[in-house]
Amino acid sequence: MSESLAQPKVICPICPHACSLLPGQTGICGARHAVDGKVVETSHGLLSSIHVDPVEKKPLHHYYPGSGALSIGAFGCNLKCRGCQNASISQVRASDGDGFYIKPSEIVDIAISHQCRSVAYTYNEPIIWSEFAVETAHAVREAGLGNIMVTAGYVTDKTREWLFESMDAANVDLKGFSEEFYKTWAKASLGPVLETLEYLHQLPGFWLEITTLLIPGINDSNSMLESEFAWIVEHLGVDVPLHLSAFFPAYKATEIGSTPVETLFRAQSLAEKAGIRYVYLGNVPGMVNTKCPACGSVLIERHGYHTRICGMKDDKCASCGHAIAGVFVTSSPGRH
Ligand code: SF4
Repeated sequence: MSESLAQPKVICPICPHACSLLPGQTGICGARHAVDGKVVETSHGLLSSIHVDPVEKKPLHHYYPGSGALSIGAFGCNLKCRGCQNASISQVRASDGDGFYIKPSEIVDIAISHQCRSVAYTYNEPIIWSEFAVETAHAVREAGLGNIMVTAGYVTDKTREWLFESMDAANVDLKGFSEEFYKTWAKASLGPVLETLEYLHQLPGFWLEITTLLIPGINDSNSMLESEFAWIVEHLGVDVPLHLSAFFPAYKATEIGSTPVETLFRAQSLAEKAGIRYVYLGNVPGMVNTKCPACGSVLIERHGYHTRICGMKDDKCASCGHAIAGVFVTSSPGRH
């Protein structure tokens, strides 16, 4: 009998890497392995971290601003970004992860006891532990709280539909705007990420924001930024908030310096010139306010992670009545 007949490989359906694994082998993400003809999570329910974070830290600035999000993370990642800002958990195999096991019902209890409005699947890439995220999300939704996914969006069509059915909001990392950049920096590809953004944008009642980490000399040229912002406006419109964040030297990219504040201002100006209405700078000190795109009034003041809603009436500008994109009402955090 040939080896391939004796030990059939199985293909993981979760992300476009489509790892083809023999029994016992682990995929590129380090968090899934083949067993009994399937590719499953290596450590279902093993977390690396759990914290109550302000929702602004995800970052989401238009989804229940000022509320708490119980944030959970695990181990591994299906992207291999050279300058990973979270390598101590993301570039670690789940089988080597020094964490703790927890049940979805315990996560819900912690979220409720800390008055969180939502649970966020974050810190490492939650797509690779979709089964546990979805199981938790069902319990979270049953308790009347919202589910937030913080993701790089590198996922197959099938998993995307199944996974985001249980989610209410997401911040998706759009890491750069060329296939070459995704290939060399992250060992992944841009196409599926753009498909995720378009899919989430059209999902009824779903709230989407985007983050781009600006890496000096790598993804911060005017031409790359202009292409990205033009794509966002054409495919997602002008109301999806965009967070432009500062990079810090990390992991295998310690030779690259931190993002100069001038780069952030230059990118912000290009994004606003392209027509994007809500552009925020991240990882820099100072005020990050939300202003009414119609009359310029300050609607939400933020200083660090202190948030004060000061110029809104329900989901409108209190001064001119302009409707502000987002989820602001205080009733239910689920799909609006
Ligand atoms: S989720 Fe992990 S195992 Fe599955 S295809 Fe992607 S990298 Fe491979």
